[in-house]
Amino acid sequence: TLSERLGGVFEKLRGRGALNELEVRAAMREVRVALLEADVALPVAKAFTDIATERAIGAEVLRSVTPGQQVVKIVNDTLVEILGGDAADLNIDITPPAVIMMVGLQGSGKTTSTAKLARHLADKRRKKVLMASLDVNRPAAQDQLRILGEQLSIATLPVIPGQLPTDIAKRALQAAKLQGFDVLMLDTAGRLHVDTALMAEMKAVGAASSPAETLLVVDALTGQDAVNVAENFSREVPLTGVILTRMDGDARGGAALSMRHVTGKPIKFIGTGEKLDAIEPFHPERTAGRILGMGDVVSLVERAAESFDADQAEKMAARMAKGAFDMNDLRQQFQQMKKMGGLGALAGMLPGMGKAQAQMDKAGVNEKTLARMEALILSMTPKERAKPDLINAKRRIRIAKGAGQTVQDVNKLLKMHQEMEGAMKRLKKMGGLGAIAKMMG
Ligand code: GDP
Ligand code: MG
Repeated sequence: TLSERLGGVFEKLRGRGALNELEVRAAMREVRVALLEADVALPVAKAFTDIATERAIGAEVLRSVTPGQQVVKIVNDTLVEILGGDAADLNIDITPPAVIMMVGLQGSGKTTSTAKLARHLADKRRKKVLMASLDVNRPAAQDQLRILGEQLSIATLPVIPGQLPTDIAKRALQAAKLQGFDVLMLDTAGRLHVDTALMAEMKAVGAASSPAETLLVVDALTGQDAVNVAENFSREVPLTGVILTRMDGDARGGAALSMRHVTGKPIKFIGTGEKLDAIEPFHPERTAGRILGMGDVVSLVERAAESFDADQAEKMAARMAKGAFDMNDLRQQFQQMKKMGGLGALAGMLPGMGKAQAQMDKAGVNEKTLARMEALILSMTPKERAKPDLINAKRRIRIAKGAGQTVQDVNKLLKMHQEMEGAMKRLKKMGGLGAIAKMMG
């Protein structure tokens, strides 16, 4: 995924004392390849890395003691910008009815999104919403919207068979005016491909209803196709925004990044599931964080700086470099994890820690069990702590008794030590805790 690719680029930068211009440029080239592989449109990827490179080279990054961290932050900030900066609102607080026209290809999620957005506006904005289906191509389409309306208690325009889309639009507008609706949502017909007939129909419907918002619905899973569709639509129809659906799937993130650039219009909502409440206003910052796969970079740095003892981490890194990870190290890990709010918090913020987290989950580790496991370690002799291999059946019984626990608990801890040892070896491969501590400043 894009997150993993970018994570890989950043890992290389981490723990570097200083970076020269060539190294920054090389890293940014890798960022660009990662973006292209995630289906980000070429001009977008180019613009993105040009901006980020210029910033990284111009800024204090080269002289910084934490260059990797600085580069991550610059990439994050640039991502937020390219995604559109601030969240964009709908222009619906106007003389009613505010018409919202939904356009897009067949299967992109227009009808579902029409219903989701209607519910959102009714619930969250206290709007009285009327929905009308202009999809006369598919016999079931108008029924589909009516049924969704019934489920959500949102009014739909009664269907008159045989009416043309523009006539339905005019009738809907008339009904909305007469019956005092705040918002009229027009669910238009799609086609399998962008063609002239479709564009002509969208223009005619637009002319008949003067929409305040014309929202293009695109499927994030279709990647580069979604970008092409958006480009074609925006050339023909005056869009005001985009709704990106199926953001719950494993979309590679590329479509979201390209939308703003190719349409010039903001993503206003994202669809995050099949359920009718699965729609949310689009937040560039959250999406950038998701793409970077490291949560909120700023809060990571702040929390890490507070709680991570760099000296201690350096010492441990030195030990791990020798392949050593004994019970004392494990205990130190437990203490560090308690300070950081558990490995869970850390794993979400640092790429590469997911595997260690999975091991912990498998072993059923949480904050309560951490204290119990620490008690077991304290019940060991210094020799046992330094050489866990010594711990035979007899010793297990003694250790368990000393901590007021069972032999099974000791076994679990030993298994966990083994698993953590493996995880630490993997961590060592990505630069070790010392490198991470350095990155965190
Ligand atoms: P239309 O032809 O553009 O009107 O598309 P529909 O609204 O009928 O949606 C097509 C299919 O996509 C339906 O099965 C929807 O449930 C599904 N769908 C729409 N939006 C989303 C979304 O955000 N996530 C997921 N997982 N499915 C969606
Ligand atoms: Mg439809």
